[in-house]
Amino acid sequence: MAKSILVANWKNHPGSLAETKTLLAQLARSASIYKKLACFIAPPLTYFGVCSERSRNFAHLASQDISSQPVGTYTGQITTDILKSFGTKLAIIGHSEQRAMGETNESVSQKVKVALRAGIMPLVCIGETFRDQDGEHFEFLRNELQSSLAGLNRKSDISGLVLAYEPVWAIGKHAQDAITPTDLSQSIIFLKKILTDMFGRAIAERVPILYGGSVEPDNAGVLFKETGIKGFLVGHASLNAQSFKTIAVSIISKQ
Ligand code: PEP
Repeated sequence: MAKSILVANWKNHPGSLAETKTLLAQLARSASIYKKLACFIAPPLTYFGVCSERSRNFAHLASQDISSQPVGTYTGQITTDILKSFGTKLAIIGHSEQRAMGETNESVSQKVKVALRAGIMPLVCIGETFRDQDGEHFEFLRNELQSSLAGLNRKSDISGLVLAYEPVWAIGKHAQDAITPTDLSQSIIFLKKILTDMFGRAIAERVPILYGGSVEPDNAGVLFKETGIKGFLVGHASLNAQSFKTIAVSIISKQ
């Protein structure tokens, strides 16, 4: 994907349909900015209808998860046919908050294959829970990435795959608690090396890697510049139209 990527993960917000409409109207005022990026909004499923109608001019629809089951009869599951009927283009898979509730690398790898088969871009989240001086978190990252993409190899068609590096310790805090640009660059180089080992250089180079974890207007520019990332996955700051717009502008001015 040539354009830089900006994904809004709304999680379980806003709290009402009325607030959702207000936020969408505020975001729409900066449509010309978002159109310079590949912008995605991942709202709660209950707001899919209103989001697909009101953001189609400036953002693609994304889901915060996906069923590990292909199309069929599965009570409580949202399968790819439903997601696609709303125009969903990307699915967040393996978010740390899902992993904390029991999502395993095995189910992540299953979901990735279901998404790829359905033509929905899997945005696979990985990230260490803590960072130590001995660099042991790199081993954790290697295992999580390889296991999350288990079953895919040099012969697999992984076009559409996107990675989000989201260190768990940095999520849901504020800019000053996010990763430093130096540490971020190191992690991105490491992840690219693992992807290269798995898929070969030519394919690995085409997998965009995003960063997520306390991205805000204050740090978006410095984290984007020369760290090797292709964009951001933004949580809390994506619920504030002004903050989200400033993050978008920071990317555009540095890409
Ligand atoms: C997230 O949960 O994906 C995330 C990046 O959250 P925040 O931006 O709030 O840290």
